Amino acid sequence: MRIDVVSIFPEYLAPLELSLIGKARQDGLLDLAVHDLRSFTTDRHRTVDDTPYGGGAGMVMKPEPWAQALAAVAAAGPERAEGTGKPVLIVPSPAGERFSQAIAHELAEEDQLVFACGRYEGIDERVLEWAAEHFTVRPMSLGDYVLNGGEVAVLAMVEAVGRLLPGVVGNPESLVEESHSDGLLEYPVYTKPSSWRDREVPAVLLSGNHGKIAQWRRHEQYRRTAERRPDLLETFDAGHLPRADRTAFGELGYDVVDGRLQRRPNA
Ligand code: SAM
Repeated sequence: MRIDVVSIFPEYLAPLELSLIGKARQDGLLDLAVHDLRSFTTDRHRTVDDTPYGGGAGMVMKPEPWAQALAAVAAAGPERAEGTGKPVLIVPSPAGERFSQAIAHELAEEDQLVFACGRYEGIDERVLEWAAEHFTVRPMSLGDYVLNGGEVAVLAMVEAVGRLLPGVVGNPESLVEESHSDGLLEYPVYTKPSSWRDREVPAVLLSGNHGKIAQWRRHEQYRRTAERRPDLLETFDAGHLPRADRTAFGELGYDVVDGRLQRRPNA
């Protein structure tokens, strides 16, 4: 996969040289380049922002440096046969679609992702309209809060997507059981020693009974998700749950009705 990040603070993306993503780049699994938006300006002051039309606080990022930068990274991307898919342009924005594990999986299938890091009050809206001719444009939010710039969001999204690329995470099994991979949060995990500061690892994990361990982990996923993220259970497919799992949900105050979990009103 090819990833291009455009930012006025390229140094902000330095952590992408570290850890698994850094290693993936070294190993040739991920081709990632960071570009300075200012190098696509033409004036002496390398200006990237101006005052907003209509008045109001803050500055807005000028369209032309963005068009120059995006055209350059699209041209340098993987070759495409006429009429085949466009690269994906991700525009971090608190007004975007909420980023998720499902979207990370979708993006991991692409051959080129371009990230446009906004600053100030954001990028002139016409850039997104223009870019739609050359890219599949996806404004993307990390969550319902406002950051100073898109760089932190890009670090998070590149890491979430990058670790799904073949060969990046040593044991691909570890991707399967993680939080959000099956619409639930992950079960709690423990390591040695089995007894630590008067706290014991749950006995079932020491039993060697793989069936019982798998069931305990599933039930812990249900318990944790019900406690911390009950919203995830609204879309959980409970149609094929074995009896023991229905009982586990029953103890948490949920019934299975037409394949969906329904919280009892008095639970
Ligand atoms: N005026 C914008 C608004 O209210 O939607 C916020 C601009 S914010 C100060 C500057 C930049 O930070 C945005 O252009 C975007 O790139 C990034 N940003 C801020 N919050 C974000 C979030 N929750 N998710 C993704 N990017 C975000």
